Amino acid sequence: MGQQTKILLEESEMPTKWYNVIADLPEPPPPPLHPGTHQPAAADDLAPLFPAALIEQEMTAERYINIPEEVLEVYRLWRPSPLFRAHRLEKLLDTPARIYYKYEGVSPAGSHKPNTAVPQVWYNSQEGVRKLTTETGAGQWGSSLAFACAQFGIECEIWQGAASYASKPYRKTMMQIWGGEVHPSPSTRTEFGRKLLAEDPDHPGSLGIAISEAVVEAVEDPSVRYALGSVLNHVLLHQTIIGEEALLQLAKVGETPDILVGCTGGGSNFGGLSFPFLREKLAGNMSPIIRCVEPAACPTLTKGEYRYDFGDTAGLTPLMKMHTLGHRFIPEPIHAGGLRYHGMAPLVSHIYELGLVEATSVLQTQCFEAAIQFARSEGIVPAPEPTHAIAATIDEAKKCKESGEEKVILTALCGHGHLDLPAYEKFLSGEIKDLDLAEESITESMKSVPVLAE
Ligand SMILES: *Cc1c(COP(=O)(O)O)cnc(C)c1O
Repeated sequence: MGQQTKILLEESEMPTKWYNVIADLPEPPPPPLHPGTHQPAAADDLAPLFPAALIEQEMTAERYINIPEEVLEVYRLWRPSPLFRAHRLEKLLDTPARIYYKYEGVSPAGSHKPNTAVPQVWYNSQEGVRKLTTETGAGQWGSSLAFACAQFGIECEIWQGAASYASKPYRKTMMQIWGGEVHPSPSTRTEFGRKLLAEDPDHPGSLGIAISEAVVEAVEDPSVRYALGSVLNHVLLHQTIIGEEALLQLAKVGETPDILVGCTGGGSNFGGLSFPFLREKLAGNMSPIIRCVEPAACPTLTKGEYRYDFGDTAGLTPLMKMHTLGHRFIPEPIHAGGLRYHGMAPLVSHIYELGLVEATSVLQTQCFEAAIQFARSEGIVPAPEPTHAIAATIDEAKKCKESGEEKVILTALCGHGHLDLPAYEKFLSGEIKDLDLAEESITESMKSVPVLAE
């Protein structure tokens, strides 16, 4: 077993294909439905939003998709990303477990999101798109898309939830450095935004609302398309570069994971890390437990229902079969902004229903405590989102200590927290409290989920 701390791949060893897990599932996920007719959405229904190449990737059952050379060139700015063995955290926990984390904070935007932003922008540029619109929660996706747009000369307009627009000014500055135009959401730019502001001038916003605003702006102009940073099949597809690299890296030190944990907001870093391992599991080459970790304040998989629902608050998107808390659900402004989405990727939801992955939720204070342990031992200050996966990793490592089992644990450290220091400041000064999510608020927002005829 390797005593190496940092397991690297040569540039020449970087995978050149994305992996589509749909090809290997016992049954395909239920299709998205047209919001009006409730019939399966056709490629034409999505054409006002996405370029043809991405719609094809959204619908394909092809097992492998070649990564275009222009995309590989940009990936090489930070990929292959390192896989770390967490020797120092293991020592701190006094655990016989061997902990590995794949670090995606080395990208220019500091997270895994550029893995999909870069190909999305490239495919749009190939089809002559002038501008992309999008939403952003914590600002991670907006900054990743702005970075990618700068690489290929496309304009970028971003709606950022008002609460994080106010609390995360540096993300906004990053977006602006890369040429993005940023609005707080709800905004006065769209009718929907103006309506919400009239009801509540201090509206904190949500990802769902910001998506509605960005979608409206895109469908109204044929030279503009929309980009989504998580949830959709093609996004999870692009993220599989993470898991493909991690497989090669673990092979270099002769390890296979016994348990793989990832944080799930919309499901993209989780899918990206886990799907290549799920392929190996389905092929009988390994048998890791694969577990999603979500915030107790936004427990989509563990408390939501598996239903057709809208992806946005206004109800403009196709209906997707997913675990949802209801598209009107507005989560408490927890600091893991990237995990505040009412739904879960249809693909992750489907795989969860098939029993191929597990899910658990963790409280915010437990996440920050884990993050502090991680930072003091491993050195890296994690983004608030992956602290959920770190908390679950530490839990597992502690169980190994009790049982004496030498499990191999793999997780994704999907971003650094350098722009999330205000959240850490609050935690360190004791201001962060765990909020109990009232069952009634879920029951209430579930009423907004459409009831479909059988
Ligand atoms: C956006 C984001 C997430 C949540 O999105 P997923 O699609 O679930 O990965 C998690 N971590 C970081 C660092 C993010 O930027």
